[in-house]
Amino acid sequence: MAERRKLRMGMVGGGPGAFIGPVHKMAAELDGTIELVAGAFSQSAERSRAAGEGFGIDPARAYGDYREMFKAEGERADGIDFVVIATPNHLHLPVAVAALEAGIPVMSDKPATATYDEALVLEAAVKNAGLPYGLTHTYAGYALVREARDFCARGVLGGIRKIAVEYLQGWLSRPIETTGQKQAAWRSDPALSGPGGCIGDIGTHAFHLVEYVTGLEVTGLNATLRAVVEGRRVDDDCTAILRLNNGATGVLMASQIAAGEGNGLRLRVYGENGSLDWRQEDPNRLHVRWLDGPEEIRHASGGYLSKSALRVTRLPGGHPEGYIEAFAVLYREFVEAFWGWRSGGTNELPPALPGIVAGVRGMRFIERAIESNRTESWVEF
Ligand code: NAD
Repeated sequence: MAERRKLRMGMVGGGPGAFIGPVHKMAAELDGTIELVAGAFSQSAERSRAAGEGFGIDPARAYGDYREMFKAEGERADGIDFVVIATPNHLHLPVAVAALEAGIPVMSDKPATATYDEALVLEAAVKNAGLPYGLTHTYAGYALVREARDFCARGVLGGIRKIAVEYLQGWLSRPIETTGQKQAAWRSDPALSGPGGCIGDIGTHAFHLVEYVTGLEVTGLNATLRAVVEGRRVDDDCTAILRLNNGATGVLMASQIAAGEGNGLRLRVYGENGSLDWRQEDPNRLHVRWLDGPEEIRHASGGYLSKSALRVTRLPGGHPEGYIEAFAVLYREFVEAFWGWRSGGTNELPPALPGIVAGVRGMRFIERAIESNRTESWVEF
């Protein structure tokens, strides 16, 4: 068994003004098992240094290029143990492949790559390298999503018949990409985001949640994608009908022009005996409604929850946990995967941690939805 110590994390992305890089740092460090020690935070060396200063790392370890970081860190006795990728989507593949080739395990933000073909390349690279690869589908880290997953796995609802998932945001209701808004600018450029806009940015989260919670697989879909805001080059509004491998059907709505919405992710699963309802903006409550019984509201950290939900709960009931804690759950499981691998094991992940399999399915979902929209027809998955 390898002796455990704090893991040293490198980051690519997360430069000044970035959204998710700083969230990764907070989450990774929450349990005291990981420390951010290096980064290529921006493509500009100067901005990378500025970010490094803000994160409080050694200035010599803030690099202007991720390849330089992998090389320099590889030459240090205290070099990084793994890297997190928090860049725009078009860099996910090259950064991940460069890390894997340098022998460095990867935690990547979603979507896994910019295109489905790239995802297949990445899948082969992970297999060849034999190194842990985790994917931060954040919502998989919430205790009550784990509870919902456990419910479905135990068959308590009876056969699942219908799924309704929606992910509604309003922040792209106007063409803010033309004003230089950083997050909107790359998301609306197909060369940087990939061919999917909203469908890739948040539709993949909704898709992942469906398969993750129900344990079912999507086998076909019929999608309509629109660029509602004039001049926008990628979709900003998506509606899809899903067919699942047990005969159930589902509806997936993802939109970034749903004016007034914040981060409105909601999943409803209907079985023969009852249903589940979870909302990301009220994540510490899971509603369970029975056909022949009263409605239940399950609270995060209630002693009656499943082991899988309690295992990822940090605080006593009534003390809300949220987005950062959910990310931190994924990091906790990534640390387990890391030490398992370091102790001579395989690169297999704990079963609840999304990895390359989820990454490839998410990219397939985008590709299939675009094809369905193009042909205005049902497509097989
Ligand atoms: P952002 O624009 O805020 O940040 C991207 C950062 O990457 C910037 O600091 C930019 O300077 C840096 N960057 C660009 N090119 C680089 C290069 N060559 N080398 C090093 N750094 C480089 O974007 P964001 O909103 O933080 O999104 C980043 C990624 O995270 C995207 O893939 C997005 O899909 C994903 N994301 C995931 C979640 C989630 O819930 N899991 C939420 C938001 C974003």
